[in-house]
Amino acid sequence: MRTPFDDDKLHEECGVFGVYGHQDAATLTALGLHALQHRGQEACGIVTYDGDHFYAKHAFGLVDDTFSQAEVIAGLPGHLALGHNRYSTTGEPMFRNIQPLYADMGHGGFAVAHNGNLTNAHALRLDLVKRGSIFQSTSDTEVINHLVAVSREEAVENKLVEALNQIKGAYSVLAISEDKLIGVRDPYGIRPLVLGKIGDAYVLTSESCALDIIAADLVREIEPGEVVVIDHEGMRTFFPFEKKRHRFCIFEYVYFARPDSYVENRSVYEMRKRIGMELAKEAPCPQADIIVPVPDSGVPSAIGYAQQSRLPFELGIIRNHYVGRTFIEPSDSIRHLGVKLKHNANRSYIEGKVVVLVDDSIVRGTTSRKIVEMVRDAGAIEVHMRISSPPTSHSCFYGIDTPSTEELLAHKMSVEQIRDFIRADSLAYVSIDGLYRAVGEEKRSNQFPQFCDACFTGDYPVELTDHNDKRTGSRVTGLRTPVLKAEG
Ligand code: AMP
Repeated sequence: MRTPFDDDKLHEECGVFGVYGHQDAATLTALGLHALQHRGQEACGIVTYDGDHFYAKHAFGLVDDTFSQAEVIAGLPGHLALGHNRYSTTGEPMFRNIQPLYADMGHGGFAVAHNGNLTNAHALRLDLVKRGSIFQSTSDTEVINHLVAVSREEAVENKLVEALNQIKGAYSVLAISEDKLIGVRDPYGIRPLVLGKIGDAYVLTSESCALDIIAADLVREIEPGEVVVIDHEGMRTFFPFEKKRHRFCIFEYVYFARPDSYVENRSVYEMRKRIGMELAKEAPCPQADIIVPVPDSGVPSAIGYAQQSRLPFELGIIRNHYVGRTFIEPSDSIRHLGVKLKHNANRSYIEGKVVVLVDDSIVRGTTSRKIVEMVRDAGAIEVHMRISSPPTSHSCFYGIDTPSTEELLAHKMSVEQIRDFIRADSLAYVSIDGLYRAVGEEKRSNQFPQFCDACFTGDYPVELTDHNDKRTGSRVTGLRTPVLKAEG
């Protein structure tokens, strides 16, 4: 029987935003979520609290589709708000999976929103269901609610800590309970979380670009393993978890975070440019006439590559901004079409040229293959592909959407085979040490890697309980498929 966790992994990428102490909390949250739209485009939700009641609005689609409407914001009063953007690509999108997940508990209302992925959620869910918990969604995040509900701790933040102590995985979690905003970053600090201030109000959110949009100041990063509690008395923080070596996700620098964000006190744009420079040092192409980014994600690293190689940077491919990311289309045939809808060659700059294309990653190879063909059709003499990350050879289980490991091109093919598949004249990736150098490390420490780089190395810092159980078949049985598929 199919279980809600039957897929090789959950496919979620997310952005979170919470604000305490502002009369326009819902509006600020909607703006923050809008700035974080790149972290999730399938659905979004906001829950607010006005001192007496909680209010909630969840919707499919982009933040603007729903939360730009004055009557929707008017229905979300209060000084405390929590918002979430969700991105998921497989299975039926379910309304009841849209976060924040709200529940009435013994101590009062509680809503939680999560960026990351819990790697033992299925195992925990099985135990909870056997003990009588009634789940509403198929989201891994819901186990947090159930564990909080059964905690015997007094304060809600301690209930949440008790819950998270049982949970493995990558999480930047925000929760609101009666008159408290709580933020927690997992002990490895895999996903980002920052603290901001706007006047006297506090903001916790995934990236600093969500602070910029509301003119809030970036105060600092939330530390790995740190719990932040904000209420009418102000902010206090504590570190209740066993200490771990920090392993921030290096793919946030490569692709996921917005380039104008500061993550871990580093400018994402700057990091991407530096990766491009490393790439140019490691894999130069002196015969090239122009360096062309695959927009938009390849732009900063292509600038770095061009500056380091002292070759002209040109927008040889133009992107149509009114088409979403190609990954949004769940079927291969449509994804193919998506690439064509999204990009067009700028023929006047391509014709008769030796072109270096720079992109951040090759996943299934669909984009690269199409783009190389498009650039050749536009008259390029040679097309060389340079990738500003090492080969993506392993699936992410910590909150970045990637296909299962078996579907990744770099898992089944050598670099030469990939070059052949995308039909480029040459193909080179930045090395793992080159990537580490770009983000400020001397090299990757193989004993204590400074980042989570599992998608490139297969070195997973947090145990993959559910995935391994599925492989061995040890715990996956006994959970029936939820039958409620849609909510009216
Ligand atoms: P593919 O066509 O499958 O090789 O996908 C490669 C393209 O997808 C690159 O241009 C990347 O910028 C982009 N990409 C890489 N990782 C992701 C992701 N997790 N979600 C959406 N797009 C991605």
